[in-house]
Amino acid sequence: MKPRVGFFDFTGCEGCQLTILNLAEKLLDVLDLVEVVEFREVQGHCNEDLDIAFVEGSICRLDEEKRLRMIRTRSKKLITLGACADLAGINIAHEEAGGAELAMAVYGSDSKHLQGGQARPVSVIVPIDGRIPGCPVDGQEFLSILHALLLDRPTNLPAFSLCVECKLAELPCTFEQGIVCLGPVVRAGCNALCIEGGDRCRGCRGLVDNPRESSYHRVLETFNRSVDDILEEYRTYNLRIDEE
Ligand code: SF4
Ligand code: SF4
Repeated sequence: MKPRVGFFDFTGCEGCQLTILNLAEKLLDVLDLVEVVEFREVQGHCNEDLDIAFVEGSICRLDEEKRLRMIRTRSKKLITLGACADLAGINIAHEEAGGAELAMAVYGSDSKHLQGGQARPVSVIVPIDGRIPGCPVDGQEFLSILHALLLDRPTNLPAFSLCVECKLAELPCTFEQGIVCLGPVVRAGCNALCIEGGDRCRGCRGLVDNPRESSYHRVLETFNRSVDDILEEYRTYNLRIDEE
């Protein structure tokens, strides 16, 4: 019997699930290896036991917490999918900006039915067995982690910072253009996607293990920047969670 896999979404934009659906033909190869028994984007609810549960989205309400605990009970392995599930992600902006005012500003009187709540990473509620970072996740990384899980191998993520990938791609340093960047402390693995597109790194992949703060301070000093300059950037993807 093929390993049974489920995909579950909580508070998030479902962009991570769409990235997986966009794998197209590669996804068909995956379907040779596993049986996808639950995936709301394409099929209904089944409530059966699973070998692997992929969980997208942060946990904001009590009913989400209860549902997550049920999924954990049903699943041998539970893997977070994307920054919302991994870090609480950009959903944390809801609290930073004042939830009720933000909802009113966006939805007006239609906001009354919306239920607020504190956005939390999945690992704060239940134990996890691995994580796939990013906003959205990288499809290729998803496939390699799925293969590792099926072979019962460790699901290792790159242990070096994004700056390494920038240098390998010979991209100009964002700091040299007068813009702050989280590249020195963020986990590599996206091939410096945003930098290549002319933007800065806001940290969707979370902090690298043991980020070298003293080196980062030196970079900030070199470019006449202070720690305060980067704190706003840390808030975008709630990197404070990783600091704890
Ligand atoms: S991590 Fe990003 S792409 Fe994935 S669900 Fe959250 S907001 Fe959407
Ligand atoms: S450059 Fe930074 S923000 Fe952009 S995808 Fe990579 S880790 Fe995420």
